[in-house]
Amino acid sequence: MVQDGFAAVLATVSIGASVGHMQNEWSLCTFGAAGPPSVTAKAAGPAGGAVDGFLLAYDGFDPGTEGLREALTSTGNGYLCTRGAAEWEDADGVHYPGTYAHGGYNRETTILGGLPVLNEDLVNLPNWLVLQLRIEGDDAIRLADVELLGYRHELDLRNATVLRRLRFRDRAGRETTLKSRRFVSMADPHHAGIEWTLVPENWSGHVEVISALDARVSNGGVARYQQLEGRHLNPVSPRTFGPEVIALKAETRQSNLYISQATRTRVFRGGEPLPTRRTLHQMEDYIQQVLAFDVRQGEATRVEKMVAFYTSRDPAVSDTLVRAASSAARYSDFAASFERHSGAWDELWRTCGGRVSANEQVQLLLRLHIAHLLQVCSRHTADLDAGLPARGLNGEAYRGHVFWDEIYAFPFLNVRLPEVTRGLLLYRYRRIGEARAAARDAGYRGAMFPWQSGSEGIEESQRVHLNPLSGRWEPDLSHNQRHVNAAIFFNIWNYFQATHDYAFIERYGAEMMLEIARFWASIAHFNPARERYEIHGVMGPDEYHEQYPGAPQGGLRNNAYTNIMVAWLCDIAGNLPSLLPASSTEGLRARLGIGDDELALWQDMSRRMFVPFHGDGIISQFEGYFDLAELDWDAYRAKYGNIQRLDRILRAEGDDPNRYKITKQADTVMLFFLFTREELRETFERLGYDYRPDTAARNIAYYDRRTSHGSTLSFVTHAGALATLDPESSWDRFLVALRSDADDIQGGTTKEGIHLGVMAGTLDVMQRCYAGTQIRDSVLYFDPQLPGGLDGLSFPMQFRETPILVTLSANQLTVAVHPKGASHPIRAGIPGDVRELCPGDQAVFELSRGVPDNGPQVAG
Ligand code: BGC
Repeated sequence: MVQDGFAAVLATVSIGASVGHMQNEWSLCTFGAAGPPSVTAKAAGPAGGAVDGFLLAYDGFDPGTEGLREALTSTGNGYLCTRGAAEWEDADGVHYPGTYAHGGYNRETTILGGLPVLNEDLVNLPNWLVLQLRIEGDDAIRLADVELLGYRHELDLRNATVLRRLRFRDRAGRETTLKSRRFVSMADPHHAGIEWTLVPENWSGHVEVISALDARVSNGGVARYQQLEGRHLNPVSPRTFGPEVIALKAETRQSNLYISQATRTRVFRGGEPLPTRRTLHQMEDYIQQVLAFDVRQGEATRVEKMVAFYTSRDPAVSDTLVRAASSAARYSDFAASFERHSGAWDELWRTCGGRVSANEQVQLLLRLHIAHLLQVCSRHTADLDAGLPARGLNGEAYRGHVFWDEIYAFPFLNVRLPEVTRGLLLYRYRRIGEARAAARDAGYRGAMFPWQSGSEGIEESQRVHLNPLSGRWEPDLSHNQRHVNAAIFFNIWNYFQATHDYAFIERYGAEMMLEIARFWASIAHFNPARERYEIHGVMGPDEYHEQYPGAPQGGLRNNAYTNIMVAWLCDIAGNLPSLLPASSTEGLRARLGIGDDELALWQDMSRRMFVPFHGDGIISQFEGYFDLAELDWDAYRAKYGNIQRLDRILRAEGDDPNRYKITKQADTVMLFFLFTREELRETFERLGYDYRPDTAARNIAYYDRRTSHGSTLSFVTHAGALATLDPESSWDRFLVALRSDADDIQGGTTKEGIHLGVMAGTLDVMQRCYAGTQIRDSVLYFDPQLPGGLDGLSFPMQFRETPILVTLSANQLTVAVHPKGASHPIRAGIPGDVRELCPGDQAVFELSRGVPDNGPQVAG
């Protein structure tokens, strides 16, 4: 089933063969073990790097891929995240030091062609990395100016530490070894640290180390945005605190967010502090301290730069500058801080790690994805007012906005760090007022959350975007993706299924769900001719179709994915009040003014939403899709090679993607990814439509042929949807998704920020599609379907506060309940064999591997 757009992409990545058997799962994943061990086998790694079990490593410096490496080796803690740029480099087209924190947004206006364009961006915050070396008064060392005798750049996933080891010969012939290690503390979210170890190889002499904080930065990390205003910071003040600590405060220009950083730099030799001569230089947006000392040939000198970081969004802060300075002054030395940080990561790996029996690279890349997800969404994030930015906190693409991508990340978090999902859902709740206003302004009721969300929850989607192929600014109608509202509903419901967090659902979740259902009921209208409800003027996830060809306005009629999601959610919303305790239901209904007629309307919609079909059981992506022209895929592939972004190609040719039966990314196919066969059959039957045994297979095949996978999310979705139907095709797509950022298969997008939804989505495919986990009727089901490339897997998870360890091989599933978990038993099993398990219990289920089917068969 490898076809069309997909084949071209598959050809660009190399996929290794499956090797080895499952290692000792028990010793690797036993509760209480001191963190996961490293796999020592080495293989060719992504983008030319080498891998071991927890190490993403690159040998040799390559200016062309440095931006990609920086994004992939970013280090963060769920509060702030910094790209893996070298400490001694400025932003210059090769290097791009960038630091981002949740919620650090600012709005600026650009005048484009005489018109004002307003954008909200996640701000590149002052650069705390700056650490430079001057030898004997010469210019500070930069990679471009020295002869590199050895160079290695690594991200150690065990503790999210970025390392560089270099040996260089400078212009005066001096050879020097420099090792750099740095971390952003997972133990204390406001701390970060850099350690340099410096060894002069063939010389002795005088050096100066420049340690600075630099607020002269702007947002310049995305070439497409160069014409847009990138200045977001105003200087406030530099300051010193005693002889060791320097500090700097800046403010965002419009949102008036204060950001303060403070740093304490020390030099050590042989474990003892080395006296240094310190000189200071400060400007309003920059402060540096120069530490001068002598070094001796062959002797190691260590430099430690410990940094504290606060913003005015933080709790328990008066003046951010003073707070940062006192925190930096009290900060322990590198070794002690690093140990606490490592301990916090050990704990995270115990909760979120796992072991797959597959190719070494699969294991490494899954860990890379887990590590990146945790660097953006950790327990620290739960306490912030933070959403899940589509490109992580690793770059400036999509301006740090929050889309629907969280739908790919929550399944993993729900059963490991549910408090993080809860926090990210609260980000939505805090913005329900704007969602209500948006619905009202558009003539609807309820809450209409925006397609792109930032600080306040208003619509942040841009109205024009630059087509890099044509250089033209083109209208952007993507805000019509109202399906984000179905995703938010879906996410709340699934969080509740995984946790039974009644406090959340009663206080926040139900209100959002009911208001979203109310929005859908008001945007829908009843068509008496069809005797069905229809939704017009919206877009599905496929961004190639924004409107009918030549139509004056945006939006389409009856996007099938949207309408089926609405039918599904209306069923739940209609019954929601009866699921909650009577006292909270009454209060909620009274507060929102929900009468019986409204509940009845939702129930009616759950039975009578319209779904377009175009014959032969094929669901039309939207009404009219069938009438569009077929594209000559072969001709386009021959002409352009990679045609993932067909929209840009067609528009640059003066054509219009709206004219064709082409799909950017899974749209109708989303249904077969999100829901099991059983759930879809129930929904279709309630709607009075046929759900045939081959509905999934036929529809996926139909759209597969017409999908260019212009968003890498699409590989995740197709991998998941195909898991039970065609495990080998599913695995091929999974591998593409898995390598998509590491190998930058879109040719330049990853350096602008990782694709967090895709990274998390690969974890979701493992858990929900290959291990077949599903929660239904308060039972945790497993219905595994391991593809050929995957011999087994083992992972910890929790189900309604009870931690368990799941171990899966081709013919056996073991579920072990932590002996000291929650005291209540859980119900878990496989279809047809559900058991009650108490703390300390271990159940073994024999699996019979069936023929691939058209959907997970979970008996209710
Ligand atoms: C995709 C969207 C996604 C967004 C952010 C777009 O390219 O089409 O589905 O939400 O990227 O990741």
